[in-house]
Amino acid sequence: MDFTLSKEQRDIQKAAREFAMGEFPDRAQEFDRNETFDLDIWRKACDLGFVGVFIPEEYGGAGLGFFEHCLITEEFWAVDAGMANAVLTATFGAELLGLAGSEEQKRVWLPPLVGGKAIMGTAITEPDAGSDVTGARTSAVKDGNEWVINGSKMFITNGDIADYLLVFCATDPENPDRHRRHSFIMVETDRPGYEANKIHGKLGIRANDTAEVAFTNVRVPADNLVGNEGDGFKDLMGFFNLTRLHVAAMGVGIARAALEESITHIKKRHQFGVALSSFQVNRFKIAEMATRIRAARSLYYEAAWMADQGRMDHGLIAMAKWFCGQVGVMCADEALQMHGGYGYIDEYKVQRIYRDAKIVEIYEGAKEVEKTIVANTILGR
Ligand SMILES: Cc1cc2nc3c(=O)[nH]c(=O)nc-3n(C[C@H](O)[C@H](O)[C@H](O)COP(=O)(O)OP(=O)(O)OC[C@H]3O[C@@H](n4cnc5c(N)ncnc54)[C@H](O)[C@@H]3O)c2cc1C
Repeated sequence: MDFTLSKEQRDIQKAAREFAMGEFPDRAQEFDRNETFDLDIWRKACDLGFVGVFIPEEYGGAGLGFFEHCLITEEFWAVDAGMANAVLTATFGAELLGLAGSEEQKRVWLPPLVGGKAIMGTAITEPDAGSDVTGARTSAVKDGNEWVINGSKMFITNGDIADYLLVFCATDPENPDRHRRHSFIMVETDRPGYEANKIHGKLGIRANDTAEVAFTNVRVPADNLVGNEGDGFKDLMGFFNLTRLHVAAMGVGIARAALEESITHIKKRHQFGVALSSFQVNRFKIAEMATRIRAARSLYYEAAWMADQGRMDHGLIAMAKWFCGQVGVMCADEALQMHGGYGYIDEYKVQRIYRDAKIVEIYEGAKEVEKTIVANTILGR
């Protein structure tokens, strides 16, 4: 088994690292403190080809695999998670368009994402339907040649800045099969009746927009249905198989950031007349962090590589998402501990890493959901 990256993949990795190192460090604290972002950085990333690399060439993308998207994600997250997400989640939903969208829909909605002309998002979660996505109640009712959408969605990435959102709607709410009740419908956010309220006070990834969004009699053409009516849940599971890989790469990226900060700090800081790096307890922490990072990366590499071969392993992907998230959170915790009181202050990057890391265990299926999937694949339901 050969785990060596190709020259092209190593070049992508290096270029991503250089881009992030050039753009992120000087602005990360400002964006974190102010909960803002400069979209020129996203446009620059689009110009340089880092955004939506998995989108096929015929729709303006690089036509690379999801694996390469994960490589870029890991590099960006290893420098700053909030800015990384502000840049890379601008295509959030393109995966689903790729899986279920019609030719016409892909031609209209994919190229602007790669060209820095449009931002998208995907709205599934509702105030009363989080882990249980089948409980989503936002309704879409056919009226002539249009869908009329009513309801609200919670915690929507890019909700306040997106040009269009894929919305998980109940189109057949009384269907006795909960998995046949929903469909995805694209909503352009300039349609009358769409409203977004930015959520302030997030623990981390504060450069990345998150909003609560509401739909009041929002009308979209019938053709905005993405995939078949009633296939929403099935398509969502296919979508999560890809996006969970993306999140797994985030976990490894932030774990690396934590490791790098720790190494720098414990070599520099002296107590009891010696560097903190000479205490075995800290040396063991570094050894454990580095080992966990390698193990986590192997897991997501395998899962992403298989996905690109068309071999979706739902259980393996859930393992990668859960484990990489756990490694990210554990490494961030150890890193802050090794910084002592300095780690508690936001002038130190490690504080931001600690806050940013937690999201990886929450979105795209909280860790309990991932473990449930893993257990189900082993034990059956
Ligand atoms: C910053 C941010 C960005 C987000 N972006 C998006 C987005 O773009 N689009 C979108 O649709 N959503 C988004 N989300 C929502 C996110 O996916 C949900 O928060 C997540 O799925 C969990 O749902 P919930 O918050 O309602 O928690 P709940 O479902 O209420 O769960 C709370 C806790 O209970 C556990 N739990 C729930 N059910 C079970 C069970 N059966 N067994 C064991 N444990 C269980 C969960 O694992 C969790 O730990 C975002 C969230 C955040 C914070």
